[in-house]
Amino acid sequence: ESFTDMGLHSSIMKDITFHGYTMPTSIQAQAMPVALSGRDLLGCAETGSGKTAAFAIPMIHPPVRRGDGPLALVLAPTRELAQQIEKEVKAFGKSLESLGTAIVVGGTNISDQKSELRMGVDIVVATPGRFIDHLQQKNTSLSRISFVVLDEADRMLDMGFEPQIREVMQNLPEKHQTLLFSATMPVEIEILAQEYLRDPVQVKV
Ligand code: AMP
Repeated sequence: ESFTDMGLHSSIMKDITFHGYTMPTSIQAQAMPVALSGRDLLGCAETGSGKTAAFAIPMIHPPVRRGDGPLALVLAPTRELAQQIEKEVKAFGKSLESLGTAIVVGGTNISDQKSELRMGVDIVVATPGRFIDHLQQKNTSLSRISFVVLDEADRMLDMGFEPQIREVMQNLPEKHQTLLFSATMPVEIEILAQEYLRDPVQVKV
């Protein structure tokens, strides 16, 4: 399947082409149609497979509108990964002028992040610990989140972020879609998926 066959919005198609992507990678070809259909996804894929675009493009499709609080949340294990993800989200959403993204990670100024969040953003890319700090301080809210990505979930568990992930997953609005990506599928990931994904489609590269 090509990107053109996926029924993507023309402005996003333009940004994909501009980004230099002509053909979807295997994970993109498998995961994007599932994610675009609104179903939950359990993806076994490593860095380098093109998994970022596989969730970033469906996340901004259809073009999201600025609201009172973020509409999509990506949790990632490290600051570096969160930064890379935000960069890709921005690249694919270049034509969507109103798309607001925020990056919420540890080791950076919390009050700058606070004002950014309070101004209203559409997409938050975060590390779990710092995101929970902002939730507790009521700088942001889960009340409008309808799209959640747990990226490199195995690494997040290795780093001890399971309580923070659970805190997020248990407080999402009833209607939401979840994409979980992991390079490995240990039993802890299977348990997490069983608890929080609804009838997920499994893809593996
Ligand atoms: P990721 O696994 O998301 O970290 O992506 C790995 C690398 O592959 C990144 O440098 C991407 O920009 C690149 N990439 C992802 N998808 C494609 C594609 N469809 N065509 C060409 N390069 C891609």
